[in-house]
Amino acid sequence: ERARLARLRHTPAVTMDGERIELHANIELPTDAEAAVVAGATGVGLFRSEFLFMNRDGELPSEDEQFEAYKAAVEAMRGMPVTIRTVDIGADKPLDRMSANELRHEHVLNPAMGLRAIRWSLAEPSMFRQQLRAIYRASAFGKIRLLIPMVAHLAEVRQILESIKRVQQQLNDAGHAYTKVELGVMIEIPAAAVMLPLLLKHVDFVSIGTNDLIQYTLAIDRADEAVAHLYDPWHPAVLQLIASSIAQARAAGKSVSVCGEMAGDPAFTDLLLSMGLRSFSMHPAQIPSVKQRILRADSAKLAGALPAILASEDPQETARLALSTGGQAA
Ligand code: PEP
Ligand code: MG
Repeated sequence: ERARLARLRHTPAVTMDGERIELHANIELPTDAEAAVVAGATGVGLFRSEFLFMNRDGELPSEDEQFEAYKAAVEAMRGMPVTIRTVDIGADKPLDRMSANELRHEHVLNPAMGLRAIRWSLAEPSMFRQQLRAIYRASAFGKIRLLIPMVAHLAEVRQILESIKRVQQQLNDAGHAYTKVELGVMIEIPAAAVMLPLLLKHVDFVSIGTNDLIQYTLAIDRADEAVAHLYDPWHPAVLQLIASSIAQARAAGKSVSVCGEMAGDPAFTDLLLSMGLRSFSMHPAQIPSVKQRILRADSAKLAGALPAILASEDPQETARLALSTGGQAA
């Protein structure tokens, strides 16, 4: 079985009816890029840059250190796209105490709803621009896409675009090379999914973060064991937000991917295909089993079954339908 999966590496991910699917990797450090290539990833869909900022003794990475890390990742991917997400610090991914003290951000009661991700970056504008400069400088060495976590307000998008403009001016003045970098936002707060048409006017692509989208849609702390049984990816509200986000992005002609755990779980592959998803990003180890499901899927047949799946009233029935809609060849 292991050998069979290894042979899959060079097989393109194409459905039985000829739909080409991108299988990208989620990475935490540039050294993970090698595993992504070995697993057959066609790009990095999510580089969680906060891991460069965590587990450090107080000092956060300089612009040059970040630049070297992003450059190492794009070079390791040999021309394939690398989607770098700006820091998603806070909540389940805290800075160590020394770094946090340095930035004077204190522990709060509800960190998942507090100063995390893009909120943190916009509260630390010089650090945000430093990260943007490092990312833009690395764009001279490969294909980079810029992804912003936890966006919920159009005002945030405007501030991001202003920061990018300012950073480009700084790089021009300093004589640093860079190329065009596509801008994307994570869809992981229900507000972003609900107002997606507005966001789509300002960005090049979106990536659906199902881990947080489930947490915020159902008001279930993704790290709290006491309510883990209520953290349900099959919940109809969750599926509707994912389905409508994919449909709206496609209708607007913008690329859309899913980079939460659902993308790497073969139990959801058919369902996501039925919603029109053509780009998945996951832990490299999940790529072979998701690819196996794709190779046996009939995307047109799956799409026809979607309305009945979404209309189902019971999450267990939804799961049963999604796994047996006949999209799989015998
Ligand atoms: C997500 O929320 O689904 C996601 C991909 O981001 P993270 O797990 O890093 O919060
Ligand atoms: Mg998230």
